[in-house]
Amino acid sequence: MTNVDPQELAKFSDLAHKWWDPESEFRPLHEINPLRLDWIDQHAAIKGKAVVDVGCGGGILAESMARRGANVLGIDLADKSLKVAQLHAMEAGVANLDYRCVAAETLAAEQPAQYDVVTCMEMLEHVPDPASVIQACAAMAKPGGWLFFSTLNRNPKSFLFAVLGAEYLLKMLPKGTHEYARFIRPAELARCIREAHLDLVQFKGMEYNPLTRHYWLSGDTSVNYMVACRKPVSAA
Ligand code: SAH
Repeated sequence: MTNVDPQELAKFSDLAHKWWDPESEFRPLHEINPLRLDWIDQHAAIKGKAVVDVGCGGGILAESMARRGANVLGIDLADKSLKVAQLHAMEAGVANLDYRCVAAETLAAEQPAQYDVVTCMEMLEHVPDPASVIQACAAMAKPGGWLFFSTLNRNPKSFLFAVLGAEYLLKMLPKGTHEYARFIRPAELARCIREAHLDLVQFKGMEYNPLTRHYWLSGDTSVNYMVACRKPVSAA
């Protein structure tokens, strides 16, 4: 498997023991989770659905989707994070939730068109070939299935907020968490989505006020943003 940056995986493995500490480096993910969970659920009504969460890390989103009644498989290539995710699910007694250390591309070949919902959040900006991950996600979705991606835009404002602000000034994230060159503009993500033969349904911005430490969803995609797509029914 070549579509992986070992240094990126190492960054997350080193922090794996902190995934469920809401005051840790993963605090932003805990804070945005209710917002993205509701947004995903509003579009895809996840209860009872087969969901795969690609790049699930410690399972913040995966576990919350299982708690809403979805049957969730979380996949990642950082084994340490998956162990933490598994342990947390066990301790919390959450059913309908499995984890596997497998690449998106591998699972797509193994289980094509098996999932009603595919989520891939805050992961694309950590891989060498995000288009390949998007293709794999498209392959895993059933015809008519929903796909959700999120990442960071690439422009001076996102550099200021996501790199200088979050990593250097506010120290919310460890230095080096994000590599600016890997950030993805909405137009670039839209092109990958089109090339994967998916229909783009909605872009959603996620804004942050560093003074109040408050996140909210909006139409402003200039820093953090998400996109909802669907696999056409005819793509069977
Ligand atoms: N999606 C989770 C975690 C985001 S952090 C959430 O939003 O809460 C980014 C995750 O991507 C980490 O868990 C990291 O291990 C994973 N990752 C990085 N490169 C990867 C790759 N090539 N394949 C699978 N997962 C990868």
